Amino acid sequence: MMLIDNLKVKSFIQAAPFESRLINTFFLKLGNEPDETLYRINPLLFAHKHDLDEKQVVDIFILAARAGIFNLFFNLVCPACGFIIIKEASFTSLNKADYFCAVCHSDIPVILDDTIEVFFQIHPAIYKVEFNPFENVECFTSFFFSRSFYKTGSIIGHIVDDLAFLSPGEMKIFKLNVQKDMLYRFIAINLNLSLFVYIGNKQGHNNPLQVTVNKMGFSQKKVSLNRGEIKIALTNDSEQKLGIGLVKTSPGESHSSANGNKLNRTPFLSGKLLFNNTTFRNLFKIKNLPGNLKLKLRSLTLLFMEIQSSPDLYERQGDAFVYDLIQKHFYILEEIADRYQGAIIKTMGDVIMFSFPSPINSLLAAFSMLKGIKSVKHDEKTALCLKIGLHEGHALVINRDDLLDYFGRTVTIAAYLKNLAGPDEIFFSDALFRDKEIKKEFVKLKDRIKLYKKHIKVKWMINKLVIYKMVIIHN
Ligand SMILES: [Zn+2]
Repeated sequence: MMLIDNLKVKSFIQAAPFESRLINTFFLKLGNEPDETLYRINPLLFAHKHDLDEKQVVDIFILAARAGIFNLFFNLVCPACGFIIIKEASFTSLNKADYFCAVCHSDIPVILDDTIEVFFQIHPAIYKVEFNPFENVECFTSFFFSRSFYKTGSIIGHIVDDLAFLSPGEMKIFKLNVQKDMLYRFIAINLNLSLFVYIGNKQGHNNPLQVTVNKMGFSQKKVSLNRGEIKIALTNDSEQKLGIGLVKTSPGESHSSANGNKLNRTPFLSGKLLFNNTTFRNLFKIKNLPGNLKLKLRSLTLLFMEIQSSPDLYERQGDAFVYDLIQKHFYILEEIADRYQGAIIKTMGDVIMFSFPSPINSLLAAFSMLKGIKSVKHDEKTALCLKIGLHEGHALVINRDDLLDYFGRTVTIAAYLKNLAGPDEIFFSDALFRDKEIKKEFVKLKDRIKLYKKHIKVKWMINKLVIYKMVIIHN
């Protein structure tokens, strides 16, 4: 399919701020993807598959979504089975701390790094995807389960063996030879509902059991049957086609399989990565955010920075001069942050708060910023200095004045470290020092930096805070 012949795509290609070779390749490759991929595109996988720059590809998807070429969705994915529990066009609809996965019979927390997958779908006005999830088992699983999570050997393997499709109004008799103490569970997968079947000790004749299911639930919450051969006549009382799976659990085995059953993953665009994307933050200025927005992040890396000028610079050169000077530096810093996939969260006077996808990115950015700012040509008296604090930890995404902001101890500590730092010093926490990639980087940098470890007592913390000071050795 030639996507580039579409008028909307054509005008997007002409106006978009990307090299024409890149953007043309992007749409050519995309047009060759099968319908099931176009229905749910993982932008990172798309970039890797076609050997394109990941950051630029994500930016193209975001810009093109803004231009109406894609729809953007937020999936809450069960990390144990890959089931897409909910699909929302806006993350503000993810307003509960956790949601139930009927496949695993477990509560799955909303965590932006781990359980929220962002994907793009080609807009129906551009191309209408022909994809029937009920065509076969393969189509069904790739529609209702995320392809970013490997399914081999998981609970899905068991369910798929016995997967049955039921049209609205259709009845199917399930015959099972059941054993004592075993637990059986029927799952109406696309309704996210399940029915427990308990097997008792008595050997006996079971009359066929009539059960119906619709979106409100199964007609029975659980049933108890005798061992031996059983028949369950299940009727689809809903208005949609259903995929019914069956899970058998041995005695002692937990029917709740979300614990300890983490699937392998291919890289995907998590909610965290999207919120950290400058293009997204600039384009999708999110108005009318719910006041009580509280989304969890397992790991947030923050860089707090203060730009300092010599105290008498305002007196000597005037406000306009200092303003221009800071702006010039600001652009350099912004460009460096962007190179390491960082985003400016907010500015407060001379203080800037950045977030990064990982500790190593924040450290490399801080290092480049200190070097970058020294490359601006000026005399000694107009030189600016940076004070930098870095920390990594969990946080909440909240709404502050209709902007996505971060809240929690991680923010307080990163800001505190910035205050401790002197001119051209980077202060960072033990959380960063323990990071494997950072450890490797320190080996490479050993002749170019000096590190000092300190234990400091902070009023609002019980234990002493272990911190590190890093200074660059200038030759
Ligand atoms: Zn699950």
